[in-house]
Amino acid sequence: MNNQTDVLIIGGGFAGVNVAHKLSKGGLSVTLIDRKNYFEVTFAMLRNVADPKLLGDTPRKLYSDFIDGTFIQGNIISMNASEVTLENGKSISFKRAIIASGSRYESLPLAKSMTAFDYAERHQEIEENHKLLVSAKSVLLIGGGNVGVEFAGEIASAFPDKIITLAHSTSTLLDSMKPKAQQKALEQLTAKGVKVIFNRRFKKDGDSYKCSLSNDTIQADLVYECVGMKPNTEFLKNELANVLDKKGLVKVDEFMNVVGYKSLYALGDCSALDTLKHGYLSSVQGGMLAKSILTADKGKKVKAYSTPPVVVITVTGRDTGVAQFPFGVFTAKFLINLKQKDMGINNMYKMFGSLPNKLS
Ligand SMILES: Cc1cc2nc3c(=O)[nH]c(=O)nc-3n(C[C@H](O)[C@H](O)[C@H](O)COP(=O)(O)OP(=O)(O)OC[C@H]3O[C@@H](n4cnc5c(N)ncnc54)[C@H](O)[C@@H]3O)c2cc1C
Repeated sequence: MNNQTDVLIIGGGFAGVNVAHKLSKGGLSVTLIDRKNYFEVTFAMLRNVADPKLLGDTPRKLYSDFIDGTFIQGNIISMNASEVTLENGKSISFKRAIIASGSRYESLPLAKSMTAFDYAERHQEIEENHKLLVSAKSVLLIGGGNVGVEFAGEIASAFPDKIITLAHSTSTLLDSMKPKAQQKALEQLTAKGVKVIFNRRFKKDGDSYKCSLSNDTIQADLVYECVGMKPNTEFLKNELANVLDKKGLVKVDEFMNVVGYKSLYALGDCSALDTLKHGYLSSVQGGMLAKSILTADKGKKVKAYSTPPVVVITVTGRDTGVAQFPFGVFTAKFLINLKQKDMGINNMYKMFGSLPNKLS
């Protein structure tokens, strides 16, 4: 079977959903395809696992409940310049396609599920991960980037009596942030009882974890490997391998066009557009791409993309965090609360012209 669509959007993450919403609002007919049947605010997942009752299912919403245009649930296994092929054997041809297939964390599937593609299954997956955490006395988190730092903080807030160790391979947490943010995050986690150890690169070795730098070994009831983000671009390898760079990211020009293909665009975590990989940035890119496409369709001149100023807020539990603005780093509650209060859920759905599901 072969359907045809004007604009096909591959991936309903922050980038794909926002571009779909803005193009639909601009009058274009779009088709969004995702292997899941729900959108999910990734930022909220660590708190969702640490204490599911706080946010309930509010991070998630069925695409069919809020996407304008057509939604198709399906896993794309191959693509060329005019057609995608799904795992179920169907194909969909398009005039233009937007690749927004994002990224995954293979060692931490609770962050972005690799198997629970149905809303109810995902709810179950979160509950099961929570039960595992409840029964562990000691927890080791490997990787002191944003994910490891936030997860350590959420676990310490939910379970003040657990033995929590956060191991990082360099000598500061949050490598890509400013020194003040790194220091404040360390102080906040330490105050919550998290033991932070630096210059450690742990790998599984039998029943324990061994550091390849120091030869230390460490044991914990539960280990979370908060490292190793990979772009979801394998489906391009068959017919469009030339568009991928060495990291597997889709190469784009300053108009978000896939290099060499005027009918293809790519943005968000799967693209080489920005080195920073953030959901908020992905959604902003989505808005900008929609504006460019609608402007070009009216025969007007399109502005080249330039990275907007980025604010990064890392929360270190339910009551603390660091907010990095282009002009400084702050820990004031009213700034941290921009994310902390509901982990950004309401703001994201508002951007998509919708509301989150009610907390039940
Ligand atoms: C725990 C955690 C906390 C985070 N916290 C923050 C934060 O506080 N602030 C922030 O800005 N960013 C945060 N991030 C980063 C943020 O989640 C990512 O940058 C963001 O998800 C990227 O959005 P995206 O739309 O590019 O891709 P994704 O969100 O990865 O979406 C891609 C979509 O494509 C679909 N897809 C992929 N391949 C296929 C295929 N072959 N066929 C069909 N569908 C496919 C996927 O199912 C998915 O829905 C966090 C990430 C994690 C893991």
